[in-house]
Amino acid sequence: MSDRVNVEEIYGKNVFTIEKMRERLPKSVYKEVVSVMENGGDLSMASADVVANAMKNWAMENGATHYTHWFQPLTGITAEKHDAFVTSTGKSGHMITSFSGKELVKGEPDASSFPSGGLRATFEARGYTAWDITSPAFLKESGAGVTLCIPTAFCSYTGEALDKKTPLLRSMEAVNKQALRIVRLFGNTKATKVNVSVGPEQEYFLIDWEKSLQREDIIFTGRTLFGAPAPKGQEMEDHYFGVIREPVGKFMKDLNVELWKLGVPGKTQHNEVAPGQHELAPIYETANIAVDHNQIIMETMKRVAEHHGMRCLLHEKPFAGVNGSGKHDNWSLCTDDGVNLLDPGDTPNENIQFLFVLACVLKAVDQHADLLRQSAADVGNDHRLGADEAPPAIISVFLGEQLEDVVKQLIETGEATRSKRGGKLKTGVSTLPEFEKDATDRNRTSPFAFTGNKFEFRMVGSSDSMASPNTTLNTIVAESFCEAADRLEKAENFDLEVHDIIKEYLTKHQRIIFNGDGYSDEWKAEAERRGLPNIKSTIEAAEVLTNKDAIALYERFGVYTKSELASRKEVIFETYAKTINIEALTMIDMASKQIIPAVMKYAGQLARDVNDIKAAGVDASVEADELKEISKQLAAMKKALDKLKKDEEKAGTIKDMRKRAYFYKDTVTTSMINLRTPADKLEMLLDKKDWPFPTYADLLFEG
Ligand code: ADP
Ligand code: MG
Repeated sequence: MSDRVNVEEIYGKNVFTIEKMRERLPKSVYKEVVSVMENGGDLSMASADVVANAMKNWAMENGATHYTHWFQPLTGITAEKHDAFVTSTGKSGHMITSFSGKELVKGEPDASSFPSGGLRATFEARGYTAWDITSPAFLKESGAGVTLCIPTAFCSYTGEALDKKTPLLRSMEAVNKQALRIVRLFGNTKATKVNVSVGPEQEYFLIDWEKSLQREDIIFTGRTLFGAPAPKGQEMEDHYFGVIREPVGKFMKDLNVELWKLGVPGKTQHNEVAPGQHELAPIYETANIAVDHNQIIMETMKRVAEHHGMRCLLHEKPFAGVNGSGKHDNWSLCTDDGVNLLDPGDTPNENIQFLFVLACVLKAVDQHADLLRQSAADVGNDHRLGADEAPPAIISVFLGEQLEDVVKQLIETGEATRSKRGGKLKTGVSTLPEFEKDATDRNRTSPFAFTGNKFEFRMVGSSDSMASPNTTLNTIVAESFCEAADRLEKAENFDLEVHDIIKEYLTKHQRIIFNGDGYSDEWKAEAERRGLPNIKSTIEAAEVLTNKDAIALYERFGVYTKSELASRKEVIFETYAKTINIEALTMIDMASKQIIPAVMKYAGQLARDVNDIKAAGVDASVEADELKEISKQLAAMKKALDKLKKDEEKAGTIKDMRKRAYFYKDTVTTSMINLRTPADKLEMLLDKKDWPFPTYADLLFEG
């Protein structure tokens, strides 16, 4: 079969790891680098020069010709501009290469075409990229050759963040500072840092490359805008965890190899619920590295798929009627002396620090449910959150039976004296091992679930950056810790105050806890009774970014300034309008140039058939009925097409970006659905060979 892979040999091969730095740098420089990584501060220019040179030599030994500052603008994907190491040719005509400390540490891309939501207009046109020393440089192998990629933050001349990484790094510092206060108060004198750990599970679809090229909607928008359901969907539940088909298996193997070479710890892979849908989960890492690595995962998936004659779709809803794709954001806080603050141990009722942290997280999530929901919003995700698909747009927290019971005891009596145990798992088969069950079953419908020693935020969209959700989580929890620490530091009786805070927070914020079925209509009604926000769309969610509470929170912890928040809101409106605009134009194109002509041709032939059959003196009523139905749907399509064209024209005349975005949401998307409905009916009426592009069945089952 295929070549064997030696994981140990290839792992991290394309990464300028700390280990490689130790080998290649003079001891003093190496020490300086480690100190900046761990404690912050600036690397001296002299040391930066040494590091840059070592990096360049290593990169060139491995075939690199160019370097790039790799950054994450507000588009949500990554950006890079390649510069060759060649600086000049020497007198004898040979080339001289160089890469200075200054080039490593700072870049100045022409940033004017990245979305800034008005930030650069009001401040200054320049944009700078700055080396994130905590995320390792790596070599990207692609059609462009080998490129040294240096993870960077992207800021304006005045230090305003123009990217997703800068606020994330700021939020990590904020939560670190506040969490340290908490662990100190609980008697930990050793820890010097509290790290945010993040493990993103990435869902994706694979379809045949050639077939995808026959669909404009997939090419331009990454999702299907037309398509009747295939005879078979996901109802048999035979795809989830099913045997991985050979071509997909080969793709997964190559994907893993590419990721391992880049030091991305890909671990779990399986088929997902929908046909053609799969998942990859890496081992969790420090938040900013995990976020960078998730970008690498998405990019590598697309590249490797292409090599295998497939297209990887990361859109949240590529196909109507089957499951969409998300990205579960597993999140926890761990001290550098090895304590996971979210680990309850076997008897959570005795673990006071855990209960305290839990109460703080619940308070944070309840108080800022709107911000958390916003952080997972993107255009594609509107088809999942708040639409007919899960998870719901309402934030609630799943704690599980064991913790819910502990919380109940605390609220009722102020004390928790017992923890429910899992007990033994009995299979009734004597040869199977008997083992301890978990104390809690899983819940798949909760948007924010406690899963053993971490929270799993399940709202994030499959194509979205992980930066915003984690920035938000870190900040809201930092605030909660800060307020609790303020009280504890002043308290005369520490134990009593801890006890009071836990009881108070749990009591006040218990409405956020929900262990039932988050997909049900009863929950929507119940959530409304509890006063939990249910924000339906991305653009409505964007509004919360500039409310008074959000500005106060983010400014207090130095994560976003008021103008940075306003700029993000503006970018969301703009991106939303642009995305729907492209979708609408693509539909207009496919309907006018492909579907309607195909249907007219088919109907013409059918009309001739009806006449021929009648002329032969035979009953043509079946054919005639079919023809009538087709012309009815065709007429409906034409009418809907004209309406969509008119809406499109109108949208273009709306100057105010916010108003334009709302017009797209309220009017254009409705017209799009009205165009799709008759088209999908027509697909079912026409002969398969006459339909102008591959169908759902072709894409999902024969890919
Ligand atoms: P599931 O059963 O939920 O599909 P997976 O194994 O697919 O679980 O993914 C779980 C993810 O959670 C992995 O990326 C894993 O590394 C990560 N994870 C495990 N423990 C922690 C933790 N303490 N903090 C953050 N992430 C974690
Ligand atoms: Mg999983």
